[in-house]
Amino acid sequence: MLIKLLKIMVKKSKIEWTEATWNPSVGCTKISEGCRNCYAEVFARRLQAMGIKDYEEGFRFRILPHRLEEPLHRKKPTRYFVNSMSDLFHEDMPQDFLDAIMDVISRTPQHQYQILTKRADRMYDYYISRKAPQNIWLGVTVEHPRRLNRIDLLRQIDARIRFISFEPLLEDLGVPDLTDIHWAIVGGESGPKARPMKKQWILNIKAACERYDTEFFFKQWGTWGEDGVRRSKKKNGNLLEGRRYQSYPSV
Ligand code: SF4
Repeated sequence: MLIKLLKIMVKKSKIEWTEATWNPSVGCTKISEGCRNCYAEVFARRLQAMGIKDYEEGFRFRILPHRLEEPLHRKKPTRYFVNSMSDLFHEDMPQDFLDAIMDVISRTPQHQYQILTKRADRMYDYYISRKAPQNIWLGVTVEHPRRLNRIDLLRQIDARIRFISFEPLLEDLGVPDLTDIHWAIVGGESGPKARPMKKQWILNIKAACERYDTEFFFKQWGTWGEDGVRRSKKKNGNLLEGRRYQSYPSV
């Protein structure tokens, strides 16, 4: 476990669809169905127990100005997941700090930045009066039918890449409208309290990707396998009907 936690600290990500993480803020507040078993909360509390300074307040939202310039010091082109331990558009994120983060993104065109939020309304409000930098990917999480409206907000933002994370997929969403959405990630929940995901729910999203010309990335089954059996996430793997789907949008 210590090794796993240290890997998070050095920021090279094990998340399948990114390369590294950059967390200019940490901590969050639960806001929707997918937050129930939030991995960031679990890790934040462990890091707090280990005495790691950035996590001395546990999972309470806080900005970390000393981390702001991290990407400026990295020359190698890198795909960053911004705020894997938080939500960039959290209510307590100060507007000027958000502007400072966007400034760093604009000044590092060698990198790509993936921003994923459950606060689609604040992200919409922020970008509707600003141009999103060209090297940014903007995404929303849609884990439940009640959250489909986030897609409508996202598609109105003028971003080069717009994506949806259907993870943890908790209910059948039917075949959602993915007009003008470039990329869809699907994943099941993992951990001791994981809720199961049904194969037909995934196939529906895959069908939507085919209909709307959206790249499809199946990340994992999680704790419940394709056959509905509970196992380790690793054993359940990421094959869907015997095939691996890991497409990316072209940039
Ligand atoms: S929005 Fe994300 S980081 Fe925040 S509580 Fe929910 S799952 Fe965790």
